[in-house]
Amino acid sequence: MSPAVSRLAIFPGSFDPLTLGHVAIIARGLELFDRLLVAVTINLRKQPLFSVAERMAMVRDAFPGEARLEVDSLQGLLAPWAGARGAVAILRGLRAPSDFEYELQMAQMNRHLQPGLDTVFLPTEAAGSYVSSSLVKEVASLGGDVSSLVPAHVLEALRARLTVSPPR
Ligand code: ADP
Repeated sequence: MSPAVSRLAIFPGSFDPLTLGHVAIIARGLELFDRLLVAVTINLRKQPLFSVAERMAMVRDAFPGEARLEVDSLQGLLAPWAGARGAVAILRGLRAPSDFEYELQMAQMNRHLQPGLDTVFLPTEAAGSYVSSSLVKEVASLGGDVSSLVPAHVLEALRARLTVSPPR
């Protein structure tokens, strides 16, 4: 492999919202690959709390000035999309053994759909293994403190979005 070839990985996810768990995986991905493309997925069957544009901005704002990080949105099949961009790998975080069953099938299916495309799993640091976007939203919506689980700009966005008028 020529050293001039830059190796691109894609980190796909909903990021609704971005958590410090995601941030850690992105930072580690940037150590492993030359370039990282975060693909914010559009799932028409789910009603997200934040728009695709808001979720993309959350990722960008967590890594200001990082030229090796790109952010894009994705609707539809990941494997051909990743192949068309010349990605060598899909990056995924693993929080618990229960994640693995589904992730293994996805990795195998993606390789079937796009031969040569590998999936790289990064185990979460133990301290972040209970952090998920859905739990962060639920806890924040019930008034719980999520300030150590999301970046400051995401905390602001959550506060603004979840502010509800007190019952009369
Ligand atoms: P999706 O619903 O598409 O899995 P998520 O935004 O929930 O989207 O997750 C995107 C990726 O980030 C997945 O690989 C997931 O395992 C990983 N991830 C989510 N939370 C954490 C965390 N706390 N630590 C490490 N990886 C995480």
